[in-house]
Amino acid sequence: MKRTTRLAATFTAICLAANVAGHARAETLSETYRVTRANDVEFQKIAPFKVFDNLYHVGPGYVGVWLIPTTAGIIMIDSAQEPYVDFVMDNVKNVGFDLKDIKYIMLSHGHLDHFGGSARIQEASGARVVALDEDWKMIEDAGARPGRNGGPSPRVPKRDMVVKDGDTLTLGNTTMKLYHHPGHTPGVLSGEFTVFDNGKPHKALWQGGGGSRGGLAAAEQAVETTNRIAAMPGIEVLVMIHS
Ligand SMILES: [Zn+2]
Repeated sequence: MKRTTRLAATFTAICLAANVAGHARAETLSETYRVTRANDVEFQKIAPFKVFDNLYHVGPGYVGVWLIPTTAGIIMIDSAQEPYVDFVMDNVKNVGFDLKDIKYIMLSHGHLDHFGGSARIQEASGARVVALDEDWKMIEDAGARPGRNGGPSPRVPKRDMVVKDGDTLTLGNTTMKLYHHPGHTPGVLSGEFTVFDNGKPHKALWQGGGGSRGGLAAAEQAVETTNRIAAMPGIEVLVMIHS
Protein backbone atom coordinates (compact mmCIF):
# COMPACT_ATOMS: atom_id res chain seq x y z
CA MET A 1 0.00 0.00 0.00
CA LYS A 2 2.74 2.35 0.99
CA ARG A 3 4.65 1.46 -2.15
CA THR A 4 1.54 2.05 -4.26
CA THR A 5 1.07 5.48 -2.70
CA ARG A 6 4.69 6.34 -3.37
CA LEU A 7 4.34 5.18 -6.97
CA ALA A 8 1.17 7.23 -7.39
CA ALA A 9 2.90 10.26 -5.92
CA THR A 10 5.85 9.77 -8.25
CA PHE A 11 3.49 9.40 -11.20
CA THR A 12 1.67 12.59 -10.24
CA ALA A 13 4.99 14.40 -9.85
CA ILE A 14 6.10 13.24 -13.29
CA CYS A 15 2.79 14.36 -14.81
CA LEU A 16 3.09 17.75 -13.13
CA ALA A 17 6.68 18.10 -14.29
CA ALA A 18 5.67 17.14 -17.82
CA ASN A 19 2.86 19.65 -17.67
CA VAL A 20 5.14 22.40 -16.45
CA ALA A 21 7.70 21.45 -19.08
CA GLY A 22 4.92 21.50 -21.68
CA HIS A 23 3.97 25.02 -20.74
CA ALA A 24 7.54 26.18 -20.37
CA ARG A 25 8.69 24.88 -23.76
CA ALA A 26 9.76 27.86 -25.76
CA GLU A 27 7.91 28.30 -29.01
CA THR A 28 10.19 27.86 -32.01
CA LEU A 29 10.67 30.79 -34.35
CA SER A 30 8.97 28.76 -37.06
CA GLU A 31 5.89 28.31 -34.84
CA THR A 32 5.84 32.03 -34.15
CA TYR A 33 5.94 32.86 -37.85
CA ARG A 34 3.62 30.10 -39.05
CA VAL A 35 1.09 29.94 -36.20
CA THR A 36 1.08 32.50 -33.39
CA ARG A 37 1.80 35.58 -35.49
CA ALA A 38 0.84 34.19 -38.89
CA ASN A 39 -1.50 37.12 -39.55
CA ASP A 40 0.73 39.86 -38.16
CA VAL A 41 1.68 41.45 -41.47
CA GLU A 42 4.31 43.86 -40.14
CA PHE A 43 5.96 41.14 -38.02
CA GLN A 44 6.22 38.95 -41.13
CA LYS A 45 8.21 41.58 -43.03
CA ILE A 46 11.70 40.40 -42.16
CA ALA A 47 14.73 41.94 -43.84
CA PRO A 48 16.06 39.98 -46.82
CA PHE A 49 19.32 38.12 -46.28
CA LYS A 50 22.08 36.35 -48.17
CA VAL A 51 22.74 32.71 -47.24
CA PHE A 52 25.29 31.66 -49.87
CA ASP A 53 27.19 33.48 -52.61
CA ASN A 54 24.29 32.55 -54.91
CA LEU A 55 21.29 32.25 -52.55
CA TYR A 56 19.18 35.03 -51.04
CA HIS A 57 16.02 34.89 -48.93
CA VAL A 58 13.59 37.63 -49.94
CA GLY A 59 10.31 36.30 -48.55
CA PRO A 60 8.23 37.11 -45.51
CA GLY A 61 8.84 35.15 -42.29
CA TYR A 62 6.38 32.29 -42.75
CA VAL A 63 7.06 31.26 -46.34
CA GLY A 64 10.27 31.18 -48.34
CA VAL A 65 10.99 33.14 -51.48
CA TRP A 66 14.53 32.53 -52.71
CA LEU A 67 16.72 34.08 -55.38
CA ILE A 68 19.44 32.15 -57.16
CA PRO A 69 21.46 34.68 -59.17
CA THR A 70 23.32 33.27 -62.18
CA THR A 71 25.50 34.80 -64.92
CA ALA A 72 22.39 35.21 -67.09
CA GLY A 73 19.75 36.38 -64.62
CA ILE A 74 17.92 35.07 -61.59
CA ILE A 75 15.99 31.92 -60.80
CA MET A 76 13.30 32.74 -58.22
CA ILE A 77 11.83 30.00 -56.07
CA ASP A 78 8.19 30.59 -55.06
CA SER A 79 6.49 33.94 -54.84
CA ALA A 80 4.64 34.24 -51.49
CA GLN A 81 1.12 35.69 -51.66
CA GLU A 82 -0.78 38.90 -50.94
CA PRO A 83 -0.36 41.09 -48.97
CA TYR A 84 3.39 40.40 -49.30
CA VAL A 85 4.02 40.64 -53.03
CA ASP A 86 5.13 44.30 -53.03
CA PHE A 87 7.36 43.50 -50.04
CA VAL A 88 8.98 40.60 -51.94
CA MET A 89 9.53 42.77 -55.02
CA ASP A 90 11.06 45.53 -52.87
CA ASN A 91 13.37 42.95 -51.28
CA VAL A 92 14.62 41.88 -54.71
CA LYS A 93 15.67 45.50 -55.30
CA ASN A 94 17.02 45.88 -51.75
CA VAL A 95 19.49 43.02 -52.22
CA GLY A 96 20.74 44.73 -55.37
CA PHE A 97 18.84 43.14 -58.25
CA ASP A 98 16.43 44.36 -60.88
CA LEU A 99 13.04 42.67 -61.21
CA LYS A 100 13.78 42.34 -64.93
CA ASP A 101 16.73 40.07 -64.00
CA ILE A 102 14.28 37.36 -62.90
CA LYS A 103 14.07 34.82 -65.73
CA TYR A 104 12.27 31.92 -64.06
CA ILE A 105 9.80 31.67 -61.18
CA MET A 106 9.82 28.06 -60.00
CA LEU A 107 6.65 27.06 -58.15
CA SER A 108 7.21 24.43 -55.49
CA HIS A 109 3.55 23.42 -55.54
CA GLY A 110 0.02 24.59 -56.17
CA HIS A 111 -0.82 26.18 -52.82
CA LEU A 112 -1.59 29.89 -52.75
CA ASP A 113 1.09 30.79 -50.20
CA HIS A 114 3.69 29.69 -52.79
CA PHE A 115 2.19 30.68 -56.16
CA GLY A 116 0.04 33.66 -55.06
CA GLY A 117 2.57 36.33 -56.04
CA SER A 118 3.71 34.76 -59.30
CA ALA A 119 1.25 36.47 -61.69
CA ARG A 120 2.28 39.95 -60.51
CA ILE A 121 6.00 39.14 -60.37
CA GLN A 122 5.81 37.64 -63.85
CA GLU A 123 4.14 40.81 -65.09
CA ALA A 124 6.86 42.99 -63.54
CA SER A 125 9.77 40.84 -64.70
CA GLY A 126 8.76 38.98 -67.84
CA ALA A 127 9.93 35.73 -66.20
CA ARG A 128 8.68 32.29 -67.20
CA VAL A 129 6.59 30.56 -64.53
CA VAL A 130 7.52 26.92 -64.04
CA ALA A 131 5.52 24.11 -62.44
CA LEU A 132 4.64 20.47 -62.94
CA ASP A 133 1.49 19.58 -64.87
CA GLU A 134 -0.38 18.24 -61.81
CA ASP A 135 0.02 21.49 -59.89
CA TRP A 136 -0.68 23.72 -62.88
CA LYS A 137 -4.10 22.02 -62.68
CA MET A 138 -4.35 22.93 -58.97
CA ILE A 139 -3.39 26.55 -59.76
CA GLU A 140 -5.97 26.75 -62.55
CA ASP A 141 -8.64 25.31 -60.23
CA ALA A 142 -7.75 27.84 -57.53
CA GLY A 143 -8.17 30.65 -60.06
CA ALA A 144 -11.62 29.38 -61.03
CA ARG A 145 -12.95 29.10 -57.46
CA PRO A 146 -14.08 31.91 -55.17
CA GLY A 147 -11.40 33.03 -52.72
CA ARG A 148 -11.34 32.65 -48.96
CA ASN A 149 -14.61 33.58 -47.18
CA GLY A 150 -16.35 33.97 -50.53
CA GLY A 151 -13.99 36.72 -51.66
CA PRO A 152 -12.78 37.15 -55.24
CA SER A 153 -10.77 34.31 -56.83
CA PRO A 154 -7.03 34.65 -56.36
CA ARG A 155 -5.03 35.96 -59.30
CA VAL A 156 -3.24 33.02 -60.86
CA PRO A 157 -0.57 32.86 -63.56
CA LYS A 158 -1.50 31.39 -66.93
CA ARG A 159 -0.10 27.90 -67.51
CA ASP A 160 3.36 28.68 -68.78
CA MET A 161 6.30 26.28 -68.59
CA VAL A 162 5.52 22.65 -67.73
CA VAL A 163 8.41 20.51 -66.51
CA LYS A 164 8.68 16.88 -65.49
CA ASP A 165 10.82 14.63 -63.31
CA GLY A 166 14.38 14.39 -64.62
CA ASP A 167 14.32 17.65 -66.62
CA THR A 168 17.11 20.14 -66.16
CA LEU A 169 16.81 23.89 -66.24
CA THR A 170 19.91 25.87 -67.15
CA LEU A 171 20.38 29.61 -66.80
CA GLY A 172 23.88 31.01 -67.33
CA ASN A 173 26.32 29.14 -65.13
CA THR A 174 23.61 27.35 -63.11
CA THR A 175 21.89 24.07 -63.85
CA MET A 176 19.07 22.76 -61.72
CA LYS A 177 17.98 19.15 -61.91
CA LEU A 178 14.23 18.88 -61.39
CA TYR A 179 12.26 16.26 -59.49
CA HIS A 180 8.62 15.33 -59.12
CA HIS A 181 8.18 14.80 -55.37
CA PRO A 182 4.45 14.17 -54.79
CA GLY A 183 2.82 13.77 -51.38
CA HIS A 184 2.13 17.27 -50.09
CA THR A 185 0.33 17.89 -53.41
CA PRO A 186 0.23 15.73 -56.56
CA GLY A 187 2.82 17.88 -58.35
CA VAL A 188 5.48 18.99 -55.85
CA LEU A 189 8.54 20.29 -57.69
CA SER A 190 12.04 20.08 -56.18
CA GLY A 191 15.40 21.09 -57.61
CA GLU A 192 19.00 20.05 -57.08
CA PHE A 193 21.68 22.68 -57.67
CA THR A 194 24.99 23.92 -56.33
CA VAL A 195 25.39 26.69 -53.76
CA PHE A 196 28.74 28.37 -53.15
CA ASP A 197 30.14 29.49 -49.82
CA ASN A 198 32.99 31.91 -50.55
CA GLY A 199 33.48 29.98 -53.76
CA LYS A 200 33.36 26.52 -52.18
CA PRO A 201 30.62 24.38 -53.80
CA HIS A 202 27.97 22.48 -51.84
CA LYS A 203 25.22 20.30 -53.23
CA ALA A 204 21.80 21.72 -52.36
CA LEU A 205 18.25 20.46 -52.65
CA TRP A 206 15.33 22.83 -52.76
CA GLN A 207 12.51 20.56 -51.59
CA GLY A 208 9.10 21.66 -52.75
CA GLY A 209 6.86 20.39 -49.96
CA GLY A 210 6.81 17.81 -47.20
CA GLY A 211 3.85 16.99 -44.96
CA SER A 212 1.27 14.92 -46.79
CA ARG A 213 -2.24 16.16 -47.43
CA GLY A 214 -5.09 14.19 -48.90
CA GLY A 215 -5.44 10.86 -47.16
CA LEU A 216 -3.66 7.54 -47.35
CA ALA A 217 -2.68 7.67 -51.02
CA ALA A 218 -0.95 11.04 -50.56
CA ALA A 219 0.72 9.80 -47.38
CA GLU A 220 2.09 6.80 -49.26
CA GLN A 221 3.41 9.10 -51.98
CA ALA A 222 5.04 11.27 -49.30
CA VAL A 223 6.80 8.23 -47.83
CA GLU A 224 8.03 7.23 -51.27
CA THR A 225 9.24 10.80 -51.89
CA THR A 226 11.03 10.85 -48.54
CA ASN A 227 12.78 7.57 -49.36
CA ARG A 228 13.81 8.93 -52.76
CA ILE A 229 15.29 12.03 -51.13
CA ALA A 230 17.05 9.96 -48.47
CA ALA A 231 18.70 7.96 -51.26
CA MET A 232 20.02 11.06 -53.06
CA PRO A 233 23.77 11.07 -52.67
CA GLY A 234 25.75 13.99 -51.30
CA ILE A 235 23.06 16.56 -50.46
CA GLU A 236 24.55 18.99 -47.93
CA VAL A 237 22.06 21.87 -47.93
CA LEU A 238 18.28 21.73 -47.71
CA VAL A 239 16.59 24.88 -48.98
CA MET A 240 13.32 25.18 -47.09
CA ILE A 241 10.07 26.52 -48.53
CA HIS A 242 8.86 27.64 -45.07
CA SER A 243 10.62 29.14 -42.07
ZN1 LIG B 1 1.53 23.67 -49.26
